[in-house]
Amino acid sequence: AKQAGRNSVRTYEPSMGSETAQRLALERDLRAALATGELLVHYQPVFGAVSGQPHGCEALVRWARPEQGLIPPGQFIPVAEESGLIVPLGTWVLREACRQAAEWQTGDRAVEMSVNVSARQFEQPDFLTIVRDALAESGLDPRLLILELTESVVLRNPDAAITLLKDLRDLGVRLALDDFGTGYSSLSLLRSLPIDTLKIDRSFVQGDRAEVMVGAIVSLAHAFGLHVVAEGVETAAQLDLVQSLNCDGVQGYLLARPSPASEARLILSGSPDP
Ligand code: C2E
Ligand code: CA
Ligand code: CA
Ligand code: CA
Repeated sequence: AKQAGRNSVRTYEPSMGSETAQRLALERDLRAALATGELLVHYQPVFGAVSGQPHGCEALVRWARPEQGLIPPGQFIPVAEESGLIVPLGTWVLREACRQAAEWQTGDRAVEMSVNVSARQFEQPDFLTIVRDALAESGLDPRLLILELTESVVLRNPDAAITLLKDLRDLGVRLALDDFGTGYSSLSLLRSLPIDTLKIDRSFVQGDRAEVMVGAIVSLAHAFGLHVVAEGVETAAQLDLVQSLNCDGVQGYLLARPSPASEARLILSGSPDP
């Protein structure tokens, strides 16, 4: 795969070698991928920590590059962010995830759909309209949509961000603060944000002194009336820990990996009642 990657870059940029050339080639390929339908969305179930039942999932974009297989977002989201392609890409993911959730909504069990939103998207003047349209065209109950934002979204322009967050909530959409604790969020920021959920970054769940870190974040979140979802649960010990520390939701490879809709659906529809 690595070989193919280098070759495809070389065809575009004979000058090669420079990181800029590679980046430009990747950007061009990504732009084409958006147009030709090479992007797809995988869904990772999120479970209730106490019930153990799946109640939702997170939409995670992938790039199916011919001859290179599935490329994880870490390898192209940064380029998408820098080039601005994240805006059309993000809109596509949002619409696709809403369509999927609306399809599942008609089944016997509603599925909460979480969608990642980058700062660049959030700063678009028409972001509210984009979300409203995605809901309208899919028919998804707005209460089933959760937008995941990072602290960077808010820090650039807190007042404008808070106004937009309130407008989004007025649509009925819920909001989660992603990767909590990895940025620079202050307690006062947390106090002023109209959000519903904190997602604890997996570095805290998996790292040193996880008990102290996760415990502190859960207390803080609950004191603010927020739900807490622990990410990156890979072992039974980590699951025990986040359950005993009163996390509300759990997400991680131990329980389910991100997978295509057809597979995620089987997990989300739950085991048949005994
Ligand atoms: P994120 O939003 O923090 O998403 C969680 C990431 O952790 C996902 O990686 C997921 O596959 C991974 N993960 C889940 N459980 C475990 C676990 O138990 N162990 C480990 N090691 N990892 C786990 P993924 O899919 O590679 O996505 C990486 C990041 O790319 C996301 O981090 C998010 O920041 C970004 N991303 C993905 N899709 C989108 C999108 O549609 N839009 C935007 N703006 N960003 C996206
Ligand atoms: Ca996320
Ligand atoms: Ca996260
Ligand atoms: Ca993360």
